Amino acid sequence: MEFKQIHAKQVFTPVGWLDNAIVDIKDGKIIDIKPSDTPCPNQFKLMPALIDTHIHGVMGADTMDATHQSLNTISSFLAGHGVGAFLATTVTESHEKIEAALVQVKESIKQGVAGATILGSYLEGPFFNAVHKGAHPEELLQAPDRELIEKWLKLADGTLKCIALAPEYPSALPIIKWLCSQNIRVMIGHTNADYETTKAALLAGASGVVHCYNGMSGLHHRNPGVVGAALSIDNCQTEIIVDGHHVHPAAVSIAHKCCGHNLLLITDAMRATGMPNGDYYLGQLPVHMENDVVRTQDGSLAGSTLTLDRAVNNLANFTRITFEQAWLHGSHYPAKALGIDNQLGTIAVNKVANLVLLNEQNQVTATMVNGNFVYQTEQFKSQYQ
Ligand SMILES: [Zn+2]
Repeated sequence: MEFKQIHAKQVFTPVGWLDNAIVDIKDGKIIDIKPSDTPCPNQFKLMPALIDTHIHGVMGADTMDATHQSLNTISSFLAGHGVGAFLATTVTESHEKIEAALVQVKESIKQGVAGATILGSYLEGPFFNAVHKGAHPEELLQAPDRELIEKWLKLADGTLKCIALAPEYPSALPIIKWLCSQNIRVMIGHTNADYETTKAALLAGASGVVHCYNGMSGLHHRNPGVVGAALSIDNCQTEIIVDGHHVHPAAVSIAHKCCGHNLLLITDAMRATGMPNGDYYLGQLPVHMENDVVRTQDGSLAGSTLTLDRAVNNLANFTRITFEQAWLHGSHYPAKALGIDNQLGTIAVNKVANLVLLNEQNQVTATMVNGNFVYQTEQFKSQYQ
């Protein structure tokens, strides 16, 4: 039995800010939240940790490396940016490489990682349309294949949580229905589907769309496409990369107005994140990073170098919502989207103690996962008491 207390100047809870409050933590869970009778000795704000539901890699490491070391590098780096949990996301490569990555995610969950918790894997590719291939090699793209998916689900043994696919393939709709019956989340992405096909896929049980606006048919007023479906259909979970490069700030603001709580901040970060400008690989594709923007040789954007704490700030700036409202799009709403909001995403009694302490500039100074500090800045160490 391990007991801890966090005393913060402000605590962000589902009922709003609590000033000068104490959070009691036992065995990695929040057991009480209460006002303090003594003045707060620090200036920190306590927030629920962020959740990145779509991330490939950082700091030279990628999910497709299929090594524990790479997943651990991603986990540690994310903790430094206020993320307490994530879905390790694959890209289109050979079946063997995808299988190795899925198996490694399963193994690393068992073994445990140093920072943010691995919630499972997210299969991004190969069931995509070449018209919107982005950084997925065209020759490896294929129609959704139930036998293959069954094999991969078996290999992953409950850790493959989400599968992205293009719904315009004739095999897609029955596969979406079947995956939903197996409690696997389906996301629509890298697709040239029209509005009607997207609507049918959502009706069949798909949860939403992968990185809205990027890798999909756009919104035309007589042909509203996947974007039109995402923006107009209630409860469509809408991933968005708010780095200022992938989506224009005005288009972010439109998506926020249309999607509300279903707008989910993701990073889609790849291995160049946190690294200097230069040449990298995304899967097997050579890519180049300059000034934080990564492109393939044909000029397509190839993942981002975004961090989720920066995405929160950008969302607040692009939409003029408050910082804490923007934070919800990276914490509570992703937890709801994954169906794990009974455990993660808010500071409430009985929730897992995945917490972040921010300084007065709203910068991440410490991150706690399962009630243990996994990241602390020098400022935090010297000022927290
Ligand atoms: Zn993608």
